[in-house]
Amino acid sequence: MNLKHASTDLRGPSKPHLKPAIGTGQCLCMGCGEAFNSVSAFDRHQRIGSDGRTICLHPLEITDRNGNPKPMVRNARGWWVTSLRDMGDQP
Ligand SMILES: [Zn+2]
Repeated sequence: MNLKHASTDLRGPSKPHLKPAIGTGQCLCMGCGEAFNSVSAFDRHQRIGSDGRTICLHPLEITDRNGNPKPMVRNARGWWVTSLRDMGDQP
């Protein structure tokens, strides 16, 4: 893989013009404002804290249950996906 830094800053806020399309499962998080391409990606960025409140993780800082980094990637349209290959959306 040859991942050069793109012109867009991955840690910047998601593109505000993104609008979830009906029936696609796309989600805009009201908590952190990030845009997710699927409900499963959306679910994965949230954790339930010890006080029962929902905590948003940055898509690049997500880990699996064992604590291994599982960063999401942003597809060409600006939506976070758990994996470009999973979405059938090759770069
Ligand atoms: Zn969030």
